[in-house]
Amino acid sequence: MEFRDSPEQATWRAEVQGFIKHNRPEWDPGAPMAEARQRRGPLADWRQKLADKGWIAPAWPKEYGGASLSVMQQFVMNEEFAEARLPGVGGMGVSMIGPTLIIHGTEDQKKEHLGAILRGEVQWCQGYSEPGAGSDLAALQTRAVRDGDDWVLNGQKIWTTGAHTADWCFMLARSDPDAPKHRGITYFLVDMKSPGVTVRPLINMGNLHHFNEVFFEDVRVPSRNVVGEVNRGWYIGTTTLDYERSSIGNAVGQRQSLEYYLREYGKLKESGKANTSPSVRGEIADRWIEAATARLMSYRVVSIQLAGRVPNHEASAAKLFNTELSQRIARTAMKIVGTAGLLSDPAVAPMRSRASASYLATVSSTIAGGTSEVQRNIIATRGLGLPRA
Ligand SMILES: Cc1cc2nc3c(=O)[nH]c(=O)nc-3n(C[C@H](O)[C@H](O)[C@H](O)COP(=O)(O)OP(=O)(O)OC[C@H]3O[C@@H](n4cnc5c(N)ncnc54)[C@H](O)[C@@H]3O)c2cc1C
Repeated sequence: MEFRDSPEQATWRAEVQGFIKHNRPEWDPGAPMAEARQRRGPLADWRQKLADKGWIAPAWPKEYGGASLSVMQQFVMNEEFAEARLPGVGGMGVSMIGPTLIIHGTEDQKKEHLGAILRGEVQWCQGYSEPGAGSDLAALQTRAVRDGDDWVLNGQKIWTTGAHTADWCFMLARSDPDAPKHRGITYFLVDMKSPGVTVRPLINMGNLHHFNEVFFEDVRVPSRNVVGEVNRGWYIGTTTLDYERSSIGNAVGQRQSLEYYLREYGKLKESGKANTSPSVRGEIADRWIEAATARLMSYRVVSIQLAGRVPNHEASAAKLFNTELSQRIARTAMKIVGTAGLLSDPAVAPMRSRASASYLATVSSTIAGGTSEVQRNIIATRGLGLPRA
């Protein structure tokens, strides 16, 4: 891995930095969640500026409104956006369903959805997990039965992030119960306003409403909303996308969290409200080294992509390390503030309650997007060549 930029990369980095300097939105990334939500309005301007450059979906081909950026260009852009602590604007529309439709969608599906995603007019949610199907996703039971020109869906999804604000859901359902479990699944696009769709909130332990249960009762979906071939949905749902997946944004974010906690630690120390024991100071040093390691793991993933290979167990190792590190950082922050970390009201809690909010929020990071145990299985079997248990 060459750590210094090549001349082309340096030119590109300067262009991205210049764009950020002249266009960055009013945005306080350290604001508590409720405040951050209220500030979404002013971000519309920032979104438009990104859209004008095709930078909402930089990995998408130009013909679909993206910027056709190379892996390295995306990496540099993600790194600079993360360093500048800029908010993401694309959501699942840009990162998941858009690229899937570009590869597998019909022309009508592309026409109907891609432009709306880029313009920020629609929000999408992902209906994969079910009460009995998470890590073993192919065990999903939501049924899809053909009826004339429609499909009729019955079943339940769970942990569906953003279903309460989503306009559309990309989801998997079992269309052939007699086929081997990976082969009888079809991929659907479901309008969340369809009769028979019910969204029930699940409040997480941080007392926030992010995910939901979604029930499908005789929901009719026109067959034009099937993506790819009937019964081949598994392979569409697991489409490996050739876009930058180094998690550099997460790695930079870890270091920035630490910088924030260190600044606050200094202030609390002055007022005698910080735990200044050697063990806490030792932990902060360890976290700093680990955040630097996380960054190097991201570099490893992107250098594999640049060599024309698809990162596999390396991406799992980076995900595992990053998410477990986010929990360790939150624990260290809680030790800094001590029992005051039990306060959750940002108006009175130290660090505007960021330590306690992060302590609760990061628990789910090692579950969402594939659990740590599943990542370890991948590292063990594909990385280390160990036999399956
Ligand atoms: C914050 C958050 C947001 C989410 N958003 C979405 C979403 O938008 N859409 C969606 O479809 N899903 C979403 N999910 C669901 C997520 O994908 C699943 O929670 C995850 O895949 C784990 O599945 P599960 O919860 O059913 O746990 P299970 O798969 O039942 O796992 C239970 C435990 O068993 C372990 N385990 C399971 N299999 C193995 C194995 N083979 N070897 C070793 N250990 C194993 C797991 O690691 C875990 O500790 C979200 C989850 C979270 C936490």
